[in-house]
Amino acid sequence: MIRYFQETSVLVLFSVLIFGCNGQVNRESSDKEVLKQPNIIYIMSDDHAKNAISIYGSRLAEIAPTPNIDRIAKEGVLMNNVFVTNSICTPSRAAILTGQYSQLNGVYTLKDDFDNSTNHLGKLMQKAGYSTAVVGKWHLHTEPTGFDYYNVLPGQGLYNNPKLKEIGKPWKYHNKGGEVYKGYVTDVITDESIKWLDNRDKSKPFFLMSHHKAPHGLWEFAKRHEHLFNDEKIPEPNSLYENGKHGPLKGERYGSSISDRNPRRNMLHQVTREGWPTGIIDTLGMTKREKIHSAYQKYVKDYLRTVAAIDENVGRILDYLDDNDLAENTIVIYTSDQGQLLGEHDYFDKRWMYEESLSMPMVIRYPAMINPKQENNDMVLNIDFAPTLLEFAGAEVPSKMQGRSFKSNLLGSTPTDWRTSMYYRYWMHMAHHYIPGHYGIRTKDYKLIFFYGLPLNQNGALNEITEPYWEFYDLKNDSKEMNNLYADEKYQPIIKELKSELLIKKQELKDTDESYPELMELRKKFWN
Ligand code: CA
Repeated sequence: MIRYFQETSVLVLFSVLIFGCNGQVNRESSDKEVLKQPNIIYIMSDDHAKNAISIYGSRLAEIAPTPNIDRIAKEGVLMNNVFVTNSICTPSRAAILTGQYSQLNGVYTLKDDFDNSTNHLGKLMQKAGYSTAVVGKWHLHTEPTGFDYYNVLPGQGLYNNPKLKEIGKPWKYHNKGGEVYKGYVTDVITDESIKWLDNRDKSKPFFLMSHHKAPHGLWEFAKRHEHLFNDEKIPEPNSLYENGKHGPLKGERYGSSISDRNPRRNMLHQVTREGWPTGIIDTLGMTKREKIHSAYQKYVKDYLRTVAAIDENVGRILDYLDDNDLAENTIVIYTSDQGQLLGEHDYFDKRWMYEESLSMPMVIRYPAMINPKQENNDMVLNIDFAPTLLEFAGAEVPSKMQGRSFKSNLLGSTPTDWRTSMYYRYWMHMAHHYIPGHYGIRTKDYKLIFFYGLPLNQNGALNEITEPYWEFYDLKNDSKEMNNLYADEKYQPIIKELKSELLIKKQELKDTDESYPELMELRKKFWN
């Protein structure tokens, strides 16, 4: 499945046979050495799909390798089933800091402000004795708290010569303020992260959140990557030309399409329109299929060019740790705030509960405690990140956090009562990308989604009610989610079971819909 593990499996088996006993001794002695708190570098990019990280072995792995991100997995753990609870920038960031779903932390949509008085991960790490910093994308509107140092992009920030807002200067709300830093944003964020590491209080362990803007749209690459993929054809997903599989309107007006299927938002229009920042393509005289092909090539090439700079900069951080003898006792995490559709189902963007958008990439290295070349398949959520890092730091996890530490899973021992299903909810109904409000449940083998299609007075939601509908996928036999089997007779017993499990989850997670009478009314009519 994953090339690296296939190639090395013989070697690993050999090592286990020959060195098994010695390995055990080393592990015990290293446990004693790491009683001190580990340093933590949490590197998070924006909209980085698992499919665009080569160790995950997708169709893009060969053409667009990410050797430095892959190195973290090879020297640590590759996480295969990490999911976001609300697939969009601001809410995911709030969930990561608070260990809570949107309905508890109050950040439901891109328009909601983060309550910076809350007792979140940054503050708890400070209390645990850490020197803390956040550098790069913040996107939570209010001033960062819980960080001894911050230097963050206003709003989405710029790709070239970005502004950054540094601690100690008067805070300007959200996307306002900042001073210009010359250079390409991914390089600048790494420069500033390394600068902080150099100047940090060395009497304490450190916790650094280094957050990239890339590979978020509009995919402006660094000059040095301008010609990358010039003569290459990026492999396409089969579903790029398969329209109309989702939704009651055959999907015409839903989602951000590559083709012009959704007249309100599509890639074809964007990349043929004057003013597109990386230059436009000429589709004059092309067939419909050729146009879709060209728009996809343009989009994914630009996207992967921004990923190339991310990977190089991850390498710079790993080199810094090596050069400063910090690698052994530092936890390094690479992840993204959610996934991204790269032409699958003719879509771009995220927000949907479909796999490409729901999945977060995650690789973790911690040589002092975690053995190299591990793979983990446990179902982990973004609300679990804070509890996990707190446990590694030796701090208590507040009971108001809804996530659970997966430290023990990383050390090779999954608790017997670990979750076997997860709850997802997208609140920002039909805004910008025309995706109806929905929630659903995913188990190892199945996914059930209820598209309720109501704005529910959410900030930024479009005040347009859409037709409610259900989708059900058998992930075991249809991992690409091409066949909605909600009406299939054979699956009725499992769908019934999933519906009741979904309600139980909603109860447990304090998201019962009771404060939204219009949704309760709809459920009564539509939920059978
Ligand atoms: Ca994002």
